[in-house]
Amino acid sequence: MVIGAGFAGLTAATELAAAGVDVTVLEARDHVGGRARGIQVAPEAWVDAGAAYLGDRHSELHALLADLDLKTTPTTMRGASRFALGSDATTRDGRFPPLNAVALGDLFEKLDELTATVRPDAPWLTPGAEELDALTAEAWAERHLTHPDARLFFPLFLGEMMAADPARVSLLHVAFYLRSGGGLRYLNAFEGGAQQDRIDGGAHQVCERLAARLGARVRLGEPVRAVDQDDDGVTVHGASGEHRADVAVMALPPLLADAVAYRPGLPARRASDRTARGCAVKVHLVYPAPVWRDHGLSGWSVNAEGPLLSTVDDSPAGAGVGVLTGFVTGDEAHRFAALDPGEQRASAVGQAARLFPMLPEPVGFHVTDWVNEPYSKGCYASLFGPGDWVRHGPTLTEPHLRVHWAGTETSTAFFGLLEGAIRSGRRVAAEVLARP
Ligand SMILES: Cc1cc2nc3c(=O)[nH]c(=O)nc-3n(C[C@H](O)[C@H](O)[C@H](O)COP(=O)(O)OP(=O)(O)OC[C@H]3O[C@@H](n4cnc5c(N)ncnc54)[C@H](O)[C@@H]3O)c2cc1C
Repeated sequence: MVIGAGFAGLTAATELAAAGVDVTVLEARDHVGGRARGIQVAPEAWVDAGAAYLGDRHSELHALLADLDLKTTPTTMRGASRFALGSDATTRDGRFPPLNAVALGDLFEKLDELTATVRPDAPWLTPGAEELDALTAEAWAERHLTHPDARLFFPLFLGEMMAADPARVSLLHVAFYLRSGGGLRYLNAFEGGAQQDRIDGGAHQVCERLAARLGARVRLGEPVRAVDQDDDGVTVHGASGEHRADVAVMALPPLLADAVAYRPGLPARRASDRTARGCAVKVHLVYPAPVWRDHGLSGWSVNAEGPLLSTVDDSPAGAGVGVLTGFVTGDEAHRFAALDPGEQRASAVGQAARLFPMLPEPVGFHVTDWVNEPYSKGCYASLFGPGDWVRHGPTLTEPHLRVHWAGTETSTAFFGLLEGAIRSGRRVAAEVLARP
């Protein structure tokens, strides 16, 4: 029995079914995909409300796309960028912000040094792990970043990279996340980096196609509340009643896995009250065409004031519409999520028009609030807070009798990403198949 029909759960179920296991997937929502979801912006044109980007190093994801006959499309990044980091918005070639280059170089060097010290396979065993894990990223920045431009840029960088509020995330987690994803430059890059491509037609199709292959084995609208175990198997308590199985695979984000009742109880919790929700709201502004391109602009912007802290051109290839995706992250995500729909639209559309004065009125406007999604509890991924890695790291993948763990947050490679979710699904399936 697999609980959760995101990338991790569906990968695990697919592998188990292929090995001849009689598997059922219980999914709380009325659709599969979890943190991958599509929004239709024009006939036959979809954008990603959740996960979107991938790079060449995401080898398991590429293999899965090939198997499912899905293609990628390059992330368009031609033209100049817009930056609103001071009193006026400026235009400049490339993606490097118009801030003090020495100060930003020093910030990246410090982050590189931290990243290099992390044990990628077991961050809790990093030399000095306790001290690094006790410190928030905000406290580290106060101590180590003296230049105002580095202090201004650091939270914007963490917001864009991890949807993290620096006050809520441990420094060890930041260093681990960067290491796990291939380093700061790889994670941050479009061309040649982790954001080089998108899945043509949307990432959600991966889960839809996996679920179609699994057929009636996937059961929607089944939020799992409790998992009981005895000598012969597990009893999983879902919305439609009790389900009996040999083994349960919990393919959920840690805060949700921790909210399930286990009998017997877990020897170690999956999350603590310091584990934070990644804070991301994604905004899609749909225009009749990507008009910014005609003005030599890429659609990329970075902004010190919200709601849109960055924007990117996510126009679907050949769809005849232009789509700007706005990322509202960190503290700003909570503020924006609390606005009513009219206020959200006015502030996002107004900001986009100031950044790109050539924009006409949008023909479509979509807000996806991941902060308050009850079956995600934050995004892009969970943020391990002070002490979380040292406390929970060693037992993150350790089975609790017949209960096994999956989900991107259990993968030390590409943690928080689709690639990490797939790898966790493969790992857990192998674990279950190897059970005596
Ligand atoms: C806005 C955003 C942008 C992102 N950008 C990227 C990106 O560009 N590239 C990238 O690689 N990754 C990105 N990610 C991260 C990526 O989406 C995740 O790493 C990945 O989807 C996690 O998959 P998962 O299967 O581990 O978890 P999930 O997708 O969260 O799946 C868990 C499933 O369990 C279900 N569930 C929860 N509780 C219960 C319960 N009690 N009972 C039954 N079912 C339950 C949920 O509904 C969900 O379907 C992004 C995420 C978001 C939201």
